[in-house]
Amino acid sequence: MNRRSFLTSAALTTTALALHGCNESNRVAIDHTKHPQKQDEKLSTININRAVTKTLKIATSWPAHFPIMGTGVDRFASRIEQISAKSLQIKIFAKNTLVPALGVFDATSSGKLDGFHSGPYYWKGKNSAFSLFSGFPFGLTAQELNGWLMFGGGMQLWRELYAKHNLYPFAGGNTNIQMGGWFKKPIKSLKDIEGLKMRIPGLGGEVMAKLGANPILLPAGEIYTSLERGVIDATEWVGPALDTMMGFYKVAPYYYSGWHEPGSVLEMTFNHTTWSSLAQEHQAMIESAIAEMNANMIVEFQAKNTQALQKLDSLGVKLQQFPQSVIDAAKAATLDVLSEQSDLNPDFKRVNQSATEYLKQSIAWSDVSLKEYLNIR
Ligand code: CA
Repeated sequence: MNRRSFLTSAALTTTALALHGCNESNRVAIDHTKHPQKQDEKLSTININRAVTKTLKIATSWPAHFPIMGTGVDRFASRIEQISAKSLQIKIFAKNTLVPALGVFDATSSGKLDGFHSGPYYWKGKNSAFSLFSGFPFGLTAQELNGWLMFGGGMQLWRELYAKHNLYPFAGGNTNIQMGGWFKKPIKSLKDIEGLKMRIPGLGGEVMAKLGANPILLPAGEIYTSLERGVIDATEWVGPALDTMMGFYKVAPYYYSGWHEPGSVLEMTFNHTTWSSLAQEHQAMIESAIAEMNANMIVEFQAKNTQALQKLDSLGVKLQQFPQSVIDAAKAATLDVLSEQSDLNPDFKRVNQSATEYLKQSIAWSDVSLKEYLNIR
């Protein structure tokens, strides 16, 4: 088929579909005239009581209007107000205003809150498997994580495991690939990792511990002074956009490319009872607005990191890559951590198997497509 005949045939198909659509809607309209009870059935699925504004209390683990993560949630709330014609309102509580930053999981589980925006890696104490929904070192990228969640069975597992806490999660954003962190001295070999005091949470921290480092957990507000005073030698955070705001470059100018958080999933999670009680239309609006937030946040991180990267030179930042010996050791340690955690927790084992299987297939496709392209670009 040449291009012209293809276009003609495509145009005909489109016209046929449009006509078919017209016939369909005509038929429905005629049916409604002939059978008024059918109209009533249709109306009965409209569950919103427009006389009452439904308000959902959502707490976040971020300061109010925190760049990208917090502002993303702000936009989600105003979007809901717009598309629901104010029949649904999201009231946002920034961290520590209603519950502590990391109290949002329990408060939503118990019904004190209707929902929260945070990251599943924070809840590994509830179930170590939860951290995997955020991603894992040397694992899936942001785009691949969304693929696994939406089309690879990941979301099913996440909802099944959260249901035990009366919670209903959604992927609510992603930090995109994170940087490996800020170091006071360059890392030339594995020797430089030994005894290193580094602020690095989650599975990445466990991997660093296997390499001989001393991973330390610190709240955001204490990282800079700890780095300045030598309480820690290094810290990871997110990427150029958020990291430069923290000023780490002033005391630890060696900034390394990352391996430990290749795309960290954030979550918008609801109390399951609250979610089930919502009108179907409100559920659909929330689903759409969360999907929008999820997509926008990844793009915003990509764009703002791109902008921030251009300033690093003038701030005296020295961009670095870890030596291959460190990367090889970290990869091997990651496999050990994942295998040890799988032995300890059958939930972790199931989620890890699902994600790892997806990763294997995804690597095959990414290697012949994106990786090739990035190499030749
Ligand atoms: Ca991080």
